[in-house]
Amino acid sequence: MVLAQLGGSISRAIQQMSNATVIDEKALNDCLNEITRALLQSDVQFKLVRDMQTNIKKIVNLDDLAAGHNKRKIIQQAIFNELCKMLDPGKPSFAPKKGKTNVVMFVGLQGSGKTTTCTKYAYYHQKKGWKPALVCADTFRAGAFDQLKQNATKAKIPFYGSYTESDPVKIAVEGVERFKDENCDLIIVDTSGRHKQEASLFEEMRQVSEATRPDLVIFVMDSSIGQAAFDQAQAFRQSVAVGAVIITKMDGHAKGGGALSAVAATKSPVIFIGTGEHMDEFEVFDVKPFVSRLLGMGDLSGFMDKIKEVVPMDQQPELLQKLSEGNFTLRVMYEQFQNLLKMGPIGQVFSMLPGFSADLMPKGHEKEGQAKIKQLDNSNPKLMNESRMMRIARGSGRPVREVMELFEEYKRIAKAWSNMKGLGKMAKKGDMSS
Ligand code: GDP
Repeated sequence: MVLAQLGGSISRAIQQMSNATVIDEKALNDCLNEITRALLQSDVQFKLVRDMQTNIKKIVNLDDLAAGHNKRKIIQQAIFNELCKMLDPGKPSFAPKKGKTNVVMFVGLQGSGKTTTCTKYAYYHQKKGWKPALVCADTFRAGAFDQLKQNATKAKIPFYGSYTESDPVKIAVEGVERFKDENCDLIIVDTSGRHKQEASLFEEMRQVSEATRPDLVIFVMDSSIGQAAFDQAQAFRQSVAVGAVIITKMDGHAKGGGALSAVAATKSPVIFIGTGEHMDEFEVFDVKPFVSRLLGMGDLSGFMDKIKEVVPMDQQPELLQKLSEGNFTLRVMYEQFQNLLKMGPIGQVFSMLPGFSADLMPKGHEKEGQAKIKQLDNSNPKLMNESRMMRIARGSGRPVREVMELFEEYKRIAKAWSNMKGLGKMAKKGDMSS
């Protein structure tokens, strides 16, 4: 089950429970069983799911909740908290400091996306004004140095490696020393992977780590690893001091739940996720906004941050004004569509808005999405009735069913829009102007 579906299943389970005439033990159990099933289908480890279920039951004591209590809200909050707990090890990872020397070592199995991720990580920081550098200490895989060199050159990031030297420790030490001398503040060491976990890989990792004394070790894991995630993460953690995790290929059809919940095995947070092969298909990972988006509750502060990042400065004041009036309408959204596209995969942008789900606009369907918004914007819901829908259908040559679906979607979006007041408040606080 891909993550957007997982979120949909959990939200539906909560919705079904709140539709029940009384929220009693049975309604709660049905809801939790449904959530359990969805999490297991997403490859989250059985023990984690069972613990979560037990905890929610402990927290939500239906007998203690007096009649007037909003049980749905309390249960939804408990589910939210438990999902966050599952993805949050409770301590932040080491945060490199700009302007100081930081050595960051990447580890992971071959094919996990380690080399690609090293460059993405460097590029992300470079855009924020850091001075990153890449060291290729992978002497095991033929072509590893060429790949790193190619990526680094494209991103204009200095790199170090060798075609002839076979000792990864020697290369790692030389590279780190060189970039320390050049005052780089983020020295990234890419290490070898293997097809599967084996003693020689872990021994090599240990040696490189001992010789370069990294400030942070980042473990890179492919999101499609499934149930094996927990054991793999634990094996790496036992050999080297993993401080943070990056999950790759979250754009694919992978279930992702197993990898995400592997934080429980490494006791280190997921800090970024990879969402494509390109250099900028890379997102900061924050537990609460992620779970919030997963449950269709939106992530307004993430949305605002993205707007700040991508909307040109001269358009920001006007947008700020519209937002502060609570006036972020479909029309504004249509006008801003090109900017929204820059925010990242449009489905992910939508999932930051309450009431939207990432599958409203799947990757690769941006054009259709834009057309959809325009169509929705042009239809006036007050004037919409059956004969009008039939007329629109005839006029556009589309089946009536499609027009009806579109209208239903419009109503859903319009409803979600009424929840958008928060954006206005945040804009007023001056979040847009900083
Ligand atoms: P390494 O062996 O661990 O260094 O893995 P590579 O960096 O060579 O990546 C293996 C493959 O996965 C390459 O084809 C990458 O383009 C691809 N890849 C890496 N990260 C992502 C991602 O986030 N999404 C997608 N779709 N592909 C990725």
